[in-house]
Amino acid sequence: MKTKFCALCQKEDRVLYRVQVKKGKVWIFVCTDCCNKVKTEPNYRYGGTWKGSTLPTMGR
Ligand SMILES: [Zn+2]
Repeated sequence: MKTKFCALCQKEDRVLYRVQVKKGKVWIFVCTDCCNKVKTEPNYRYGGTWKGSTLPTMGR
């Protein structure tokens, strides 16, 4: 089972969300809690869900 660390709160989790919170092409992985927080950001973009237990579903 693989895990990743949330880019915002450093929490280790098996499911993270690939998002953009700033202008530009920088993608970060965040946990569910942080994903809910950054959803309010004007530059928020969702790019897929990363699951440690299965193949990544990154879309495009
Ligand atoms: Zn987090």
